[in-house]
Amino acid sequence: MASDDQGAVAPRVRAAVVGGGPAGLMAAEVLLGQGIEVDLFDAMPSVGRKFLLAGRGGLNLTHSDPHDLFMTRYGARSGDLREALAQFDGAAVRRWAEGLGVETFVGTSGRVFPKDMKAAPLLRAWLHRLRAAGLRLHTRHRWTGWEAGTGALVFDAPDGRVLHAADATVLALGGASWPRLGSDGSWAALLAQRGVGIAPLQPSNCGFDVASTRPGAQGWSQFLRERFAGQPVKPVAARLHAQPAEDSCQGEFVLTDTGIEGSLVYAFSAALRDEIAVRGEATWLIDLLPQHGAAQVLAEVTRPRGPRSLSTHLKSRLGIAGIKAALLHEVLSPAQLADPAALAAALKALPIKLVRPRPVDEAISTAGGVRFEALDANAMLRDVPGVFCAGEMLDWEAPTGGYLLTACMATGRAAGVGVGRWLRR
Ligand SMILES: Cc1cc2nc3c(=O)[nH]c(=O)nc-3n(C[C@H](O)[C@H](O)[C@H](O)COP(=O)(O)OP(=O)(O)OC[C@H]3O[C@@H](n4cnc5c(N)ncnc54)[C@H](O)[C@@H]3O)c2cc1C
Repeated sequence: MASDDQGAVAPRVRAAVVGGGPAGLMAAEVLLGQGIEVDLFDAMPSVGRKFLLAGRGGLNLTHSDPHDLFMTRYGARSGDLREALAQFDGAAVRRWAEGLGVETFVGTSGRVFPKDMKAAPLLRAWLHRLRAAGLRLHTRHRWTGWEAGTGALVFDAPDGRVLHAADATVLALGGASWPRLGSDGSWAALLAQRGVGIAPLQPSNCGFDVASTRPGAQGWSQFLRERFAGQPVKPVAARLHAQPAEDSCQGEFVLTDTGIEGSLVYAFSAALRDEIAVRGEATWLIDLLPQHGAAQVLAEVTRPRGPRSLSTHLKSRLGIAGIKAALLHEVLSPAQLADPAALAAALKALPIKLVRPRPVDEAISTAGGVRFEALDANAMLRDVPGVFCAGEMLDWEAPTGGYLLTACMATGRAAGVGVGRWLRR
């Protein structure tokens, strides 16, 4: 970063940061580093709740992808995030964590985790450093808009309405998933009233409901739900209907009461969601035998089985049993099961028809949000001078893999730098 981006601003300049997730905390850190006084407000009794939840399954901080590949994970928005991620990329995330005394490692999938996999020690050390740098933290303060006339920020706080005037404000209010952790997307209406362009908030990295597999039924059959909901299907590979088999991704997913979820589903969720929006449904193809070639599968299926049942034959020749066998019987008709060519093809590309994404409040993250066109080069809202935005509330999405936290912190940092530049203008 050029030195004029980091120099101190005039004394006693005050910034407000609203939202204490990774984006807001990073903005606060960069603001404090420029000698700006920072008050950080959060609606919840403590900050970083989603960050802590992310740590439950092993905090995936970032990814070790080479930079160009890393950028492709943001799809159509990679250009809008290029500058922020050039200044704070995966390597910078690792250095930042190590600066807080938390060593990281690269897992077999290329994902980066703290050595102890946890979020709490990292958040604790970060808050300690921020407080030591002078951060004033105001929890249980829900931002509800601006006061007419003065333009002061208005908060609902335990003792009633609180007004706060600042020279600049960073909004880092998160998306709309997991609202009980604090981010509920209610900011969208407040900003839309000020003329800010907002792309509709939608689920990202989400599960899906399947089309009914039996006439008159909803979603999976009762048998499949009762026996297998909550269980993983693995190993499998998956692809979109329009993709060639070579583009399949390996992994696992979970059967739910109404459909599917899990890491392999999330990798395709943006494309599936968008296809459903256009066509009303989308087909996800799963390869139940990723370690077997198509010719080998066909040879085994057509091999004479004598008096053995089809189930016994598939189990002994190809290891298809349990949840995989149940899925096969759920999706294929008796005629398809009896036709060796159709059965072999389905084992390598079982079509799962999806009809709707699960609601945004169940999703891992949110697509949509403040459009980049609504921001200037400093991440300031063109229609609301002095107000900057960062994190998941911006209109980008990415698959899981550490790309979410990296972009949240990178845009938080960019907003902090942007505030300093604007105040020094
Ligand atoms: C189960 C789960 C696991 C995840 N795991 C990972 C992972 O391993 N790796 C990864 O990269 N990403 C992961 N994510 C995603 C990641 O946690 C989020 O993308 C990230 O926390 C978003 O950061 P943010 O600062 O933009 O918003 P948030 O973390 O959502 O923070 C926003 C803050 O704003 C506050 N707020 C909202 N509205 C108001 C208001 N009106 N007034 C005052 N305060 C308000 C909220 O209370 C909250 O503290 C996971 C998400 C979930 C749900």
